[in-house]
Amino acid sequence: MGCLFILWKMSEVAQYLESLRARLDAGVVLVAVSKRQPIEKLLSAYEAGQRDFGENKVQELLEKQPQMSTDVRWHMIGHLQTNKVKFIAPFIHLVHSVDSVKLLREIDKRAGQNERVIGVLLQIGIAQESTKSGMEESLLQEILERSAQGEWPNIQIRGLMGMATHTPDEQQIRKEFRELHRMFEQGRNQGSDWDVLSMGMSGDLQIAQEEGSTMVRVGTAAFGPRDH
Ligand SMILES: *Cc1c(COP(=O)(O)O)cnc(C)c1O
Repeated sequence: MGCLFILWKMSEVAQYLESLRARLDAGVVLVAVSKRQPIEKLLSAYEAGQRDFGENKVQELLEKQPQMSTDVRWHMIGHLQTNKVKFIAPFIHLVHSVDSVKLLREIDKRAGQNERVIGVLLQIGIAQESTKSGMEESLLQEILERSAQGEWPNIQIRGLMGMATHTPDEQQIRKEFRELHRMFEQGRNQGSDWDVLSMGMSGDLQIAQEEGSTMVRVGTAAFGPRDH
């Protein structure tokens, strides 16, 4: 019975992924957000060819990472405390949620200690909800200037990340994604070699792609409902 149950779950994840991939534009990278999903589901996603996985808590990331193949690319998508950077620095592929100079400095330091260059995205506050974090555009400009002067040699800033307001108002969501895309293009015009615009989740995937997303972070539409 247990075995049959696992087999059933595996095909379920593979089916979710298949229909999800059919909804992605060419060239858009899918980060499968596996937070609060059991390891069996991650393993079946891996079996189905998925390599980019996103988590929002360091503790959970540290529990899952050793159980998965070393060719998985791990994305940190949730708020990251500076005192936890050291735990993920040896393996993290991309940190989507950088929202302060303090965090940049710590990631740079720990990347150096691990003889790595760590990719990061700057999270911009585009939503109306104050609960969603992210920096202001003025800080973005300051960081770009300091980065261009070589302040954080062990960090590669690869682009921007943002979360739209949780609302049924599609015009509102579109407006916020458009604003983020504008900042992304502006950064590229200023000479940065950005290649990642991380926007779009299960509920606003389509709008995000229409507004220029290059990377989507999808949880429930990839794995089904989360535990608790
Ligand atoms: C949970 C989460 C997602 C995925 O959410 P779904 O609605 O399940 O697709 C994307 N981005 C962040 C930052 C998240 O915390």
